[in-house]
Amino acid sequence: MTGIFILLFLVIAGGFFLRSALADMLPFIKDEFNIIFKKARLSEEQKSYLSKYHPYYQQLSSTYRTEFEKRTALFICGRKFTPKGTIAEVSELQKVLIGAAMVQLTFGLKPLYFPRFKHIMLYPGEYINPFTKKAHRGEATNRGFMVLSWKHFLEGYAFPSDALNLGIHEMAHALRIEDRTSHDGEHQFIDPKHWREWDRNAIPIFKAVGEGSQTFLRKYASENSEEFFAVCVEYFFEKPEDFRKNLPILYSSMVKILNQDPARRVFRCIA
Ligand SMILES: [Zn+2]
Repeated sequence: MTGIFILLFLVIAGGFFLRSALADMLPFIKDEFNIIFKKARLSEEQKSYLSKYHPYYQQLSSTYRTEFEKRTALFICGRKFTPKGTIAEVSELQKVLIGAAMVQLTFGLKPLYFPRFKHIMLYPGEYINPFTKKAHRGEATNRGFMVLSWKHFLEGYAFPSDALNLGIHEMAHALRIEDRTSHDGEHQFIDPKHWREWDRNAIPIFKAVGEGSQTFLRKYASENSEEFFAVCVEYFFEKPEDFRKNLPILYSSMVKILNQDPARRVFRCIA
């Protein structure tokens, strides 16, 4: 008789355990399904954030807007957003605008997801990096996470023509890391010959910025080749006409890498 009670107890306890394990697993399974089958969609409210606050999205045709929304939804889906400092919760608005920074950067390319950067931490402002012990506004590291200061992220969009955009800058670092990293499903999505051309054209300008004989790009571009690329991406989207006029060869290399030409309002050069 005791054996039957023990068996009954095990069956009931097992049932509860299975149910709670399944409940935990379901959102994850749903997200993975949506990512694999590209089923993720933005709600009407999430779309309204793009219409209100995203200058790039506002310029798109209705067909491109639909695609932009789908790509943004795909980026958010299954992504872990961690609030830091005084931020209690990462809002839908914050998630949408962070995703939109990545989508803007990669809109000329095949749909990308940046699987290496599954974890994004959001601080209200500058934060102290535990390794460098210095104040940072953002980072996208080889270790596969991204950190952003919301204050500086927002300023990037509040002043869309000053060639300062933290979100696009960090996504540009992430793009280089993803393109170099194999084993995560997104690798070498940019033709290596475009990178070779970029390096050839960038080296003399990088040196000139460092020496102070080239003043169009801000001095920070001469930190290293990664910062040079990320800073150029900010100029590419926020001062495209000036970039093309001042550094036409480098601008045309960037057009090839990203397959878009903002100076001519072309969002996808080769469809
Ligand atoms: Zn940087």
